[in-house]
Amino acid sequence: MSAEILNEEKIQGAIEFHGHSCPGLAIGIRASEAAMKEFGIRSLDEEIVAVIETNMCGVDAIQYLTGCTYGKGNLIHLDYGKKAFSFYRRSDQKGVRIALNAAFFHKMADDMHALQTKRLSTGLSDEEEQRLKNMAKEKIDLVMNADLQELFDIHEAPGPLPAKAKILESVTCSECGEAAMETKTRRFLGQTLCMPCFQKANIEE
Ligand SMILES: [Zn+2]
Ligand SMILES: [Zn+2]
Repeated sequence: MSAEILNEEKIQGAIEFHGHSCPGLAIGIRASEAAMKEFGIRSLDEEIVAVIETNMCGVDAIQYLTGCTYGKGNLIHLDYGKKAFSFYRRSDQKGVRIALNAAFFHKMADDMHALQTKRLSTGLSDEEEQRLKNMAKEKIDLVMNADLQELFDIHEAPGPLPAKAKILESVTCSECGEAAMETKTRRFLGQTLCMPCFQKANIEE
Protein backbone atom coordinates (compact mmCIF):
# COMPACT_ATOMS: atom_id res chain seq x y z
CA MET A 1 0.00 0.00 0.00
CA SER A 2 1.54 3.33 -0.94
CA ALA A 3 1.69 5.51 2.14
CA GLU A 4 1.33 8.83 0.36
CA ILE A 5 -2.08 7.85 -1.03
CA LEU A 6 -3.50 6.01 1.97
CA ASN A 7 -2.25 6.28 5.53
CA GLU A 8 -3.53 4.94 8.85
CA GLU A 9 -5.24 8.24 9.63
CA LYS A 10 -7.25 8.23 6.41
CA ILE A 11 -8.23 4.59 6.89
CA GLN A 12 -9.39 5.31 10.44
CA GLY A 13 -11.32 8.31 9.14
CA ALA A 14 -13.14 6.11 6.63
CA ILE A 15 -14.00 3.56 9.36
CA GLU A 16 -15.36 6.33 11.60
CA PHE A 17 -17.36 7.83 8.75
CA HIS A 18 -18.89 4.42 7.95
CA GLY A 19 -19.45 3.46 11.60
CA HIS A 20 -17.62 0.14 11.68
CA SER A 21 -14.84 -1.83 10.05
CA CYS A 22 -16.04 -4.56 7.67
CA PRO A 23 -14.87 -6.42 4.55
CA GLY A 24 -17.11 -4.30 2.30
CA LEU A 25 -15.58 -1.09 3.57
CA ALA A 26 -12.10 -2.55 3.04
CA ILE A 27 -12.98 -3.19 -0.62
CA GLY A 28 -14.08 0.44 -0.95
CA ILE A 29 -10.86 1.66 0.67
CA ARG A 30 -8.71 -0.32 -1.77
CA ALA A 31 -10.85 0.71 -4.77
CA SER A 32 -10.38 4.35 -3.71
CA GLU A 33 -6.64 3.74 -3.47
CA ALA A 34 -6.61 2.33 -7.00
CA ALA A 35 -8.62 5.33 -8.26
CA MET A 36 -6.39 7.85 -6.51
CA LYS A 37 -3.34 6.18 -8.04
CA GLU A 38 -4.83 6.99 -11.44
CA PHE A 39 -6.19 10.44 -10.77
CA GLY A 40 -4.43 11.93 -7.78
CA ILE A 41 -5.36 12.33 -4.15
CA ARG A 42 -8.79 13.90 -4.13
CA SER A 43 -11.27 15.01 -6.72
CA LEU A 44 -11.74 18.73 -7.07
CA ASP A 45 -15.44 19.48 -7.10
CA GLU A 46 -16.86 17.66 -10.07
CA GLU A 47 -13.56 16.99 -11.81
CA ILE A 48 -13.71 13.26 -11.02
CA VAL A 49 -16.95 11.30 -11.31
CA ALA A 50 -17.45 7.90 -9.70
CA VAL A 51 -19.94 5.44 -11.15
CA ILE A 52 -20.71 2.68 -8.67
CA GLU A 53 -22.48 -0.49 -9.79
CA THR A 54 -23.69 -1.53 -6.37
CA ASN A 55 -24.79 0.07 -3.18
CA MET A 56 -22.66 -1.37 -0.40
CA CYS A 57 -20.53 -0.50 2.64
CA GLY A 58 -17.55 0.30 0.41
CA VAL A 59 -19.31 3.29 -1.12
CA ASP A 60 -18.82 5.17 2.15
CA ALA A 61 -15.05 4.74 1.80
CA ILE A 62 -15.23 6.03 -1.78
CA GLN A 63 -17.17 9.12 -0.69
CA TYR A 64 -14.88 9.81 2.25
CA LEU A 65 -11.55 9.17 0.53
CA THR A 66 -12.07 10.36 -3.04
CA GLY A 67 -14.47 13.25 -2.49
CA CYS A 68 -16.90 11.79 -5.04
CA THR A 69 -20.12 12.15 -3.09
CA TYR A 70 -23.79 11.58 -3.65
CA GLY A 71 -24.60 15.13 -2.53
CA LYS A 72 -22.22 16.77 -5.01
CA GLY A 73 -23.63 14.72 -7.84
CA ASN A 74 -20.29 13.21 -8.83
CA LEU A 75 -21.23 9.80 -7.47
CA ILE A 76 -23.65 7.92 -9.68
CA HIS A 77 -25.30 4.69 -8.58
CA LEU A 78 -26.20 2.09 -11.19
CA ASP A 79 -28.25 -0.68 -9.61
CA TYR A 80 -26.45 -3.65 -11.18
CA GLY A 81 -25.42 -5.43 -7.98
CA LYS A 82 -21.80 -5.67 -9.16
CA LYS A 83 -18.81 -4.79 -7.02
CA ALA A 84 -17.40 -2.53 -9.70
CA PHE A 85 -16.46 1.11 -9.47
CA SER A 86 -15.57 3.37 -12.40
CA PHE A 87 -13.90 6.73 -12.13
CA TYR A 88 -13.82 9.33 -14.90
CA ARG A 89 -11.87 12.54 -15.26
CA ARG A 90 -13.86 15.21 -17.04
CA SER A 91 -10.90 17.19 -18.41
CA ASP A 92 -9.56 14.44 -20.68
CA GLN A 93 -12.44 11.90 -20.54
CA LYS A 94 -10.10 9.31 -19.09
CA GLY A 95 -11.92 6.54 -17.24
CA VAL A 96 -10.91 3.46 -15.28
CA ARG A 97 -13.15 0.61 -14.13
CA ILE A 98 -12.13 -1.21 -10.96
CA ALA A 99 -14.02 -4.49 -10.52
CA LEU A 100 -13.55 -6.90 -7.63
CA ASN A 101 -11.86 -10.04 -8.84
CA ALA A 102 -14.47 -12.71 -8.08
CA ALA A 103 -11.90 -15.46 -7.58
CA PHE A 104 -9.98 -13.49 -4.99
CA PHE A 105 -11.62 -14.88 -1.86
CA HIS A 106 -14.02 -17.36 -3.24
CA LYS A 107 -13.39 -20.18 -0.80
CA MET A 108 -13.61 -17.89 2.21
CA ALA A 109 -16.76 -16.25 0.87
CA ASP A 110 -18.42 -19.67 0.61
CA ASP A 111 -17.59 -20.55 4.21
CA MET A 112 -18.81 -17.17 5.44
CA HIS A 113 -21.99 -17.42 3.42
CA ALA A 114 -22.73 -20.88 4.87
CA LEU A 115 -22.42 -19.53 8.40
CA GLN A 116 -24.44 -16.40 7.66
CA THR A 117 -27.22 -18.53 6.18
CA LYS A 118 -27.17 -20.84 9.17
CA ARG A 119 -27.32 -17.87 11.52
CA LEU A 120 -30.56 -16.76 9.87
CA SER A 121 -32.19 -20.20 9.93
CA THR A 122 -31.13 -22.08 13.06
CA GLY A 123 -28.78 -19.64 14.76
CA LEU A 124 -25.11 -20.21 15.52
CA SER A 125 -23.28 -21.74 18.43
CA ASP A 126 -20.88 -19.48 20.34
CA GLU A 127 -18.00 -21.23 18.62
CA GLU A 128 -19.52 -20.63 15.16
CA GLU A 129 -20.32 -17.02 16.02
CA GLN A 130 -16.66 -16.52 16.93
CA ARG A 131 -15.53 -18.27 13.75
CA LEU A 132 -17.67 -15.92 11.68
CA LYS A 133 -16.19 -12.90 13.44
CA ASN A 134 -12.66 -14.18 12.85
CA MET A 135 -13.45 -14.76 9.17
CA ALA A 136 -14.62 -11.18 8.76
CA LYS A 137 -11.37 -9.96 10.34
CA GLU A 138 -9.33 -12.26 8.14
CA LYS A 139 -11.17 -11.02 5.09
CA ILE A 140 -10.49 -7.39 6.01
CA ASP A 141 -6.77 -8.16 6.46
CA LEU A 142 -6.70 -10.05 3.18
CA VAL A 143 -8.28 -7.14 1.31
CA MET A 144 -6.16 -4.48 2.99
CA ASN A 145 -2.88 -6.27 2.27
CA ALA A 146 -3.63 -7.58 -1.21
CA ASP A 147 -1.90 -6.47 -4.34
CA LEU A 148 -4.31 -4.12 -6.13
CA GLN A 149 -3.82 -6.00 -9.39
CA GLU A 150 -4.83 -9.28 -7.73
CA LEU A 151 -7.74 -7.85 -5.80
CA PHE A 152 -9.28 -6.06 -8.77
CA ASP A 153 -9.60 -6.27 -12.50
CA ILE A 154 -8.58 -2.77 -13.54
CA HIS A 155 -9.35 -1.70 -17.09
CA GLU A 156 -10.20 1.34 -19.12
CA ALA A 157 -13.81 2.30 -18.36
CA PRO A 158 -16.39 2.11 -21.13
CA GLY A 159 -17.57 5.55 -22.26
CA PRO A 160 -19.20 7.88 -22.52
CA LEU A 161 -18.65 9.94 -19.43
CA PRO A 162 -21.85 10.64 -17.47
CA ALA A 163 -23.37 14.05 -18.19
CA LYS A 164 -22.82 16.90 -15.77
CA ALA A 165 -25.47 17.43 -13.11
CA LYS A 166 -27.97 20.01 -14.34
CA ILE A 167 -29.48 22.77 -12.26
CA LEU A 168 -33.20 22.27 -12.68
CA GLU A 169 -36.19 24.49 -12.03
CA SER A 170 -38.35 23.81 -9.02
CA VAL A 171 -42.11 23.95 -9.33
CA THR A 172 -44.76 24.05 -6.62
CA CYS A 173 -46.98 21.01 -6.11
CA SER A 174 -50.68 21.89 -6.46
CA GLU A 175 -51.58 19.48 -3.69
CA CYS A 176 -49.07 19.86 -0.83
CA GLY A 177 -47.56 23.22 -1.80
CA GLU A 178 -43.98 21.99 -1.51
CA ALA A 179 -41.39 22.72 -4.18
CA ALA A 180 -40.06 19.80 -6.23
CA MET A 181 -37.60 19.53 -9.11
CA GLU A 182 -39.46 20.00 -12.38
CA THR A 183 -38.34 16.67 -13.84
CA LYS A 184 -39.67 14.84 -10.78
CA THR A 185 -43.22 16.18 -11.00
CA ARG A 186 -46.23 14.76 -12.86
CA ARG A 187 -49.18 16.36 -14.62
CA PHE A 188 -52.43 14.84 -13.37
CA LEU A 189 -55.97 16.06 -14.11
CA GLY A 190 -54.63 19.48 -15.04
CA GLN A 191 -52.53 19.82 -11.91
CA THR A 192 -48.80 19.60 -11.30
CA LEU A 193 -48.09 17.13 -8.53
CA CYS A 194 -44.96 16.02 -6.69
CA MET A 195 -44.24 12.26 -6.75
CA PRO A 196 -45.77 11.38 -3.34
CA CYS A 197 -48.95 13.38 -4.12
CA PHE A 198 -49.13 11.84 -7.62
CA GLN A 199 -48.85 8.34 -6.16
CA LYS A 200 -51.46 9.13 -3.51
CA ALA A 201 -53.87 10.53 -6.11
CA ASN A 202 -53.49 7.35 -8.17
CA ILE A 203 -54.14 5.06 -5.22
CA GLU A 204 -57.33 6.98 -4.41
CA GLU A 205 -58.62 6.71 -7.96
ZN1 LIG B 1 -20.04 -2.05 6.74
ZN1 LIG C 1 -47.14 17.35 -3.24
